[in-house]
Amino acid sequence: MQRAVFLDRDGVINRAIVRHGKPYPPSGLDELDILPDVPEALFRLRSAGFRLIVVTNQPDVARGTQTREAVEAIHAAMLADLPIDEFRVCYHDDADRCTCRKPAPGMLLAATAQHQIDLGDSFLVGDRWRDVEAGHRAGCTTILIDHRYAEPQPVQPDVQVSSMAEAADWILARLGEDPRQGKESNSMKLLKDLTVKIFADGADRSEMLELSAKPYIKGFTTNPTLMHKAGITDYRAFARDIIQAIPDRPICFEVFSDESAEMERQAYEIAGWGANVYVKIPVTNTCREPSYALVKRLSHDGVKVNATAMLTLTQVREVAEAVAGGAPCYVSVFAGRIADTGRDPVPLMAAAVQLLRPIPNAELIWASPRELLNIFQADSVGCHIVTATHDILKKLPLVGKDLAERSLETVRMFYDDASKAGFRL
Ligand SMILES: [Mg+2]
Ligand SMILES: [Zn+2]
Repeated sequence: MQRAVFLDRDGVINRAIVRHGKPYPPSGLDELDILPDVPEALFRLRSAGFRLIVVTNQPDVARGTQTREAVEAIHAAMLADLPIDEFRVCYHDDADRCTCRKPAPGMLLAATAQHQIDLGDSFLVGDRWRDVEAGHRAGCTTILIDHRYAEPQPVQPDVQVSSMAEAADWILARLGEDPRQGKESNSMKLLKDLTVKIFADGADRSEMLELSAKPYIKGFTTNPTLMHKAGITDYRAFARDIIQAIPDRPICFEVFSDESAEMERQAYEIAGWGANVYVKIPVTNTCREPSYALVKRLSHDGVKVNATAMLTLTQVREVAEAVAGGAPCYVSVFAGRIADTGRDPVPLMAAAVQLLRPIPNAELIWASPRELLNIFQADSVGCHIVTATHDILKKLPLVGKDLAERSLETVRMFYDDASKAGFRL
């Protein structure tokens, strides 16, 4: 059985057009305004395992003041940006006496019949009494986003909030407390639940080989800085040796020339070392000259490129265009380096996922992670791959650990170290 969050559309996902205190739908794409907190809230709910189903009354179609095509165009635009699983629309008005127009629960029940949804474990988020009543009649927990419209609110929701972000917070907090979900620590995602692929980032040969024995490591990345730190002097010999030792998973090696023609020559040589090799091409050279044209040539000549050292959405857009229709490739956005500047990388990475959606040969890498949490953040926004340094990978056994236990370990550490130091007061 699945859980679902049923979402009303106008006033929940997009801004309703309010006239005289009453909300109305946007008449077309030019009036469509997705509420700013909605993308992240929906990604969080989706990654907690909810099916996201929009259930919307669009009676203006029956009234002749709106067309189905305009409604469908709005839904297509939403689908391009938001992790919505399906739209269910009632195009009728009261006079049609249909079973789908909210407050009737028909749309929720039809979705349930089709997808084996457990309504008792599901939620409805709406901004009007018709939504709340439909959710209630279907047996869901109901959440009203209160926009203080000038209209009666005859049905009591289970909870009242002021935004979709708060609705998501409330739903996710309830999951943590739900006795059916077990203890707090068990409601979180564990390693086995992640869809993001973990790549090990490093250039230490013995560590790489050790990690290659672990089934949850799906690939490897290196870079000249790491190789230099590992004391490697013969680039080619090191790379060929590692590729031979790990032939069954992608491994990334970077070109290091600063000049386009030489970068291209190096790229072809590196690509020739193995079918599992991805060639890292920095997004610009040190003179800020972009590598998009080179990336495009290589990608369309069958070279698996890993466009790297990227930090902006403009770069993602340009690379997406360059690799569209080319060989399989990676797009490495350095989320950790973004975080180092005081910016939250999560919304940017979520946007990058959306930009790459139309490019099926491209996978987004959350690169330069700073902490273990980044693996889970990458997973929740739908990144395909996250790289992790060997230091972060060493913390993996802590995933899902009981926090009270972890607290006790911390207390013991303080006590033991104080004893070892022989401190006296
Ligand atoms: Mg509404
Ligand atoms: Zn209907």
